[in-house]
Amino acid sequence: MNIITSPDEMTRFSSDAIQRGERIGLVPTMGFLHDGHLALMREGRRESSVLIASIFVNPTQFGPTEDFARYPRSFERDCAMLETVPVDVVFAPEPAAMYSPDAQTWVDAGDITGGLCGAHRPGHFRGVTTVVAKLFNIVKPHLAVFGEKDFQQLRAIQKMVRDLNFDVEVMPVPIVREKDGLAMSSRNAYLSVTEREDALALSLAIRAARDKHRAAPCCAEEIVFAASRVLKRMKGIEIEYVEAVDAETLARHPSLDRPILIAIAARVGKTRLIDNVVLNPQE
Ligand code: AMP
Repeated sequence: MNIITSPDEMTRFSSDAIQRGERIGLVPTMGFLHDGHLALMREGRRESSVLIASIFVNPTQFGPTEDFARYPRSFERDCAMLETVPVDVVFAPEPAAMYSPDAQTWVDAGDITGGLCGAHRPGHFRGVTTVVAKLFNIVKPHLAVFGEKDFQQLRAIQKMVRDLNFDVEVMPVPIVREKDGLAMSSRNAYLSVTEREDALALSLAIRAARDKHRAAPCCAEEIVFAASRVLKRMKGIEIEYVEAVDAETLARHPSLDRPILIAIAARVGKTRLIDNVVLNPQE
């Protein structure tokens, strides 16, 4: 497995691979990998002949009061996990190599980033789409894999790819969960033992939403109410939002004739966690 830290070297590597006729797959991550990330890697491995994983804790997607400095990092352990897939290249640049001090150009995917997490994390998605656009230009992938865990991020990247004609196939992968249902996340490492128990309320709330939808296809408000009730029962949880939106456009007031996204963000202690489910009309 090659480890590349220089963007120019990464581009040279990819250009050579493209000339040889390889199909390049990219899985962007912020590291501190878990089985959710590995599911994306395995999907990328199946669909490409050269698989590149990026590990980059992107400063531009963190707000000034967020956890950029303390975001968990474990480069050696990550590399050992990536070897098992196997991944061909780890692209792990330093922030200074990705952003020159005078960089001023941003990619903004517009309305799709206005609600849900976008409403609570100003500038977050602008940082995400900008770094992903840069990664696409540096790595030149044919295919890029993203998790449905960060559903709004997935939709923002799909929108960017369409709006800006990136020649990249975006491949979504379903949420990978712990045995008890908690969505895997690098940030779960922040949780104390009791917070870890409280955190289960997010996936229980998602399950309640799904059950409500299955039992009697009612209205979106009732589904949101069912999920919120589960979260409110847990004392250690502070709800940021529980919302039902159209699963394609992320617009509010969704019609139950189309797939809807139930999305949750909540704080467990100081840790901000998210979870979601897409509910289809026939379910
Ligand atoms: P991150 O390192 O948190 O930026 O995540 C990198 C990629 O892994 C993103 O596309 C995430 O959506 C995806 N991801 C993170 N956790 C999970 C999970 N539990 N299941 C599926 N994909 C995930």
